Amino acid sequence: MREIRSTSEVAPGILFVEGPASNWTVFHGDGAVELVDCGYPADRPLVEASIRAAGAEPADLRRILITHGHSDHLGSSRELAVRHGAAVQTAAAELPNVRREVTEQVTVADLLPSVLKRGTVRWAVEAIRAGGLGDVGVPSATAFDGDTLELSTGHRLHVVATPGHTSGHACLFEPDARVLITGDVVVTGHALLRESGELQQLPAFFHHDVAAAAASARSLDLCDTAIVLPGHGPLLRL
Ligand SMILES: [Zn+2]
Repeated sequence: MREIRSTSEVAPGILFVEGPASNWTVFHGDGAVELVDCGYPADRPLVEASIRAAGAEPADLRRILITHGHSDHLGSSRELAVRHGAAVQTAAAELPNVRREVTEQVTVADLLPSVLKRGTVRWAVEAIRAGGLGDVGVPSATAFDGDTLELSTGHRLHVVATPGHTSGHACLFEPDARVLITGDVVVTGHALLRESGELQQLPAFFHHDVAAAAASARSLDLCDTAIVLPGHGPLLRL
């Protein structure tokens, strides 16, 4: 059964959710909800449960902000958007991937060289069960309206372009609580990583452009960050 691993209210109106395979963040306040990422298609009921856990209602969902168009981050957005009348937005450079005009996502062929590694088969089976091979594109998605996003919840997010994992991958920084949502540029854990808890990169075969992904990870400025909310693994307080 799919279950939420943990939830943490890291700052007023910011609930970090460690999902079954990937993470999302619920921003809530002023009678509104906005999400950053939303798990696999199969995670949609868990996303709605996490909104209720935050003391809000799924019907108050206004917008889903997507760090990048992989099915474990974008997966339930199309259905959430339809059910609750929410908009789906991502960085302009990521729009083709989110709309599935192109597909930048690891395939079974990419996995073949590592298929004998411990855990890879199990991870792939879980990903497929969660809807990872389905069409999760959101043709109606639009681009972020600037480098600073004013949320309907009263929060503010700065967009940090971090290409490589996908062409238009973006991190999102909340300056008041100094929270950095890193998507898959750096993570603190994953089913296919041995270590958990430390900032690290995902295995290379997950990245669309390995060199660019490494450069984005290196250039990530953590000086102003108090809390890292990664796409995979537990949150990290610096
Ligand atoms: Zn990803």
